[in-house]
Amino acid sequence: NAPLSEVDPEIAQVLERELDRQRSYLEMIASENFVPVSVLQSQGSVLTNKYAEGYPGRRYYGGCEEVDVAEELAIARAKELFGAEYANVQPHSGATANAAVLHAIARPGDTLLGLSLDQGGHLTHGMKINFSGRLYNIVAYGVDPETSLIDMDEVHRLAVEHNPKVIIAGWSAYPRHLDFARFREIADEVGAYLWVDMAHFAGLVAGGVHPSPVPHAHVVSSTVHKTIGGPRSGFILTNDADLAKKINTAVFPGQQGGPLMHVIAAKATAFKIAGTPEFAERQQRVLSGAHIIAERLSQQDVADAGVKVRSGGTDVHLVLVDLRDAAIDGKQAEDLLHEIHITVNRNAVPNDPRPPMVTSGLRIGTPALATRGFGDAEFTEVADVIALALQPNPDIAALRTRVAALTAAFPLYPELQQ
Ligand code: PLP
Repeated sequence: NAPLSEVDPEIAQVLERELDRQRSYLEMIASENFVPVSVLQSQGSVLTNKYAEGYPGRRYYGGCEEVDVAEELAIARAKELFGAEYANVQPHSGATANAAVLHAIARPGDTLLGLSLDQGGHLTHGMKINFSGRLYNIVAYGVDPETSLIDMDEVHRLAVEHNPKVIIAGWSAYPRHLDFARFREIADEVGAYLWVDMAHFAGLVAGGVHPSPVPHAHVVSSTVHKTIGGPRSGFILTNDADLAKKINTAVFPGQQGGPLMHVIAAKATAFKIAGTPEFAERQQRVLSGAHIIAERLSQQDVADAGVKVRSGGTDVHLVLVDLRDAAIDGKQAEDLLHEIHITVNRNAVPNDPRPPMVTSGLRIGTPALATRGFGDAEFTEVADVIALALQPNPDIAALRTRVAALTAAFPLYPELQQ
């Protein structure tokens, strides 16, 4: 049992260099966050050794008494945090949670109505070569090309026309609240299930700064690693006893084998943290930071460079930037920000004239920096750095110095040795 540095120095170096990268860049990928050390501890624990197929109290393996405690805690905390009657905390990821949801509420060939991938939806909401697009008949709604907003009358029209079995509300790149009540009304009218995928905004819901989909949806799925800031994984909520049974069967044995008990223990801790006042305060900073960035990127100097904020602002933890009229494309903007040590991802805009590997947009998120401790003052500084970077002939060295001052002022994982 020699340490990693001896057994596999190459991988040990990857870990070391990655910690260094996370410390020295400003992480603004909207789907990323920094887990607390307490979560790292469970994930790197002996719980990874345990097989526990089944559910607490009903396992197919012996020796589950301790992992049962962990899973019961994760379930109880998820239910309390989101005010749901039932929770399944076993999905390995957001995508497997979504596969299980569909497994539970639809049959191959059924029609699903979801937000199209190129307008902000997720792969699992019906992308052609994803399991969802291959197994189900997909009808997609989009966003209005002018306003970048989902047109609920269009959702209604498509629902009435195509009679979907499932209506999906949720997104990977959309900067506004969804009208959950209207989605449910439409679902009820056409006899569909409403499934909300809150993977992105779950932390905002937990922190009380975003409306909750739980009272409206038949089923809610989520990841734990985005705004919640927990381990990379998923979970599913419902208030319906019958659906809860179907979901449990769909997750195991329908979708997965042994649950990742080290991750489930870490989920329990993440849900505990997400119920604290400190977490709620952090979500306020997440939102406030996104507002500050949207406002700065709406100012005249940026507009003069052809850069636009899609939908004119944000209600959530991310800002979508439209570069169609700018001198740089999405890939160039991503690379340029990387050069000044800010990590974001390029993102297609609706009807993007450029290919998906290039795109004409950016997605900029604030959760990781809020976890790092950033408040309004720091987000104002970051917003200005980004605003200047996106204008012609930016002073890369000067901007990078400003970023370095921020990373130095907010050390990441000071308790970790390397
Ligand atoms: N659902 C939505 C809305 C997402 O944005 C994502 C991830 O980007 C997922 C599901 C999938 O999560 P994972 O990457 O854990 O499979």
